[in-house]
Amino acid sequence: MNTDKLSARLAAVAKYVPSGSRVADIGSDHAYLPCYLIKNKQITYAIAGEVVLGPFKSAERNVLSEGLADKISVRMGDGLAVLQPEEADCITIAGMGGSLIANILEQGKEKLGSVQRLVLQPNINAISIRTWLLENKWELIAEEIIEEDGKIYEVLVAEKGNPGNPYNSGQMEIGLLFGPFLLQRKEDAFKKKWGLEQKNWQRIYEQLESAAPSIETDEKKQELITKLKLAEEVLNDEESERA
Ligand code: SAM
Repeated sequence: MNTDKLSARLAAVAKYVPSGSRVADIGSDHAYLPCYLIKNKQITYAIAGEVVLGPFKSAERNVLSEGLADKISVRMGDGLAVLQPEEADCITIAGMGGSLIANILEQGKEKLGSVQRLVLQPNINAISIRTWLLENKWELIAEEIIEEDGKIYEVLVAEKGNPGNPYNSGQMEIGLLFGPFLLQRKEDAFKKKWGLEQKNWQRIYEQLESAAPSIETDEKKQELITKLKLAEEVLNDEESERA
C-alpha cells in the first residue's frame, strides 16, 4: 500500500468520501488515505490526525515528500480534538476497534456540527458504532464487508438523518449486531465472518460450562446463548432460502 494504491480495505473507505469534501482522517498513521484522496482530486483539503508520535511523524513525512503540505494539515492529538469547529464535512476513522471509534465520536461530539458524513471502518465490534449512531441521530446509509489477506473488515457510512430508518421494526437487536444492509445481502465474507464468530462463541460457552459458577459466568453464558441463537437464525435462514 502507498499513496497511489490503497489496500482494498482503505479503497472501500475512499469510495464513500464525497467528492469535493474537506476530510478529517482520524488515526491516519501514514496518511495514505488523505494523500490518495488529494492526489486523485477527490477532495480539496484534509486533516490527518494522529495521537501517537511515530505514526504522526510518518504521516508528516509522507505528506511533505508528496508535496501536499498545503492541502493536508497533519496534526498530533487525541481523536477529534485536532479539529476546529466547522473545519471538516467528512470524517474517516479506519483500522481500529469499533468501541474505540465510537468513543472518539462520543468524546468529540461538539466537533460534528459541520460534518455531513462519517465513513467508519472498524476491525471488530461494529455493533458499538451502530449503537452510537442510533443514539446520536446519525443514519446508517450504507455498509460494506470485504475480505483482504484473510481478514474481514466492515465499512459503515452514516449521515445525519433518521437513525431508525435502516432497521426493520422488531429486528433492532439483529440489525445492530449484523448490520441492516449486510444482513440483506449476506455476501460470502459475511457468512464466513459470522460462521467463525459462531464457532468462537460456542468454544467460549463450552469453556464457561466447566468454570466455577458465578453471576458473571451466568450472564456471559446468557449473552452467548442469545448471540448463538441470532447467528443461527441469520445463517440458517440463508440455507432455507437456498433449499
Ligand atoms: N487509518 C489507518 C488505516 O486504516 O490504515 C491507520 C490504522 S492504525 C491501525 C490506527 C491508528 O490510529 C494508529 O496509528 C493509532 O496511533 C491511531 N489512533 C488510535 N487511537 C487514536 C485516537 N484516539 N486519536 C487519534 N489517533 C488514534
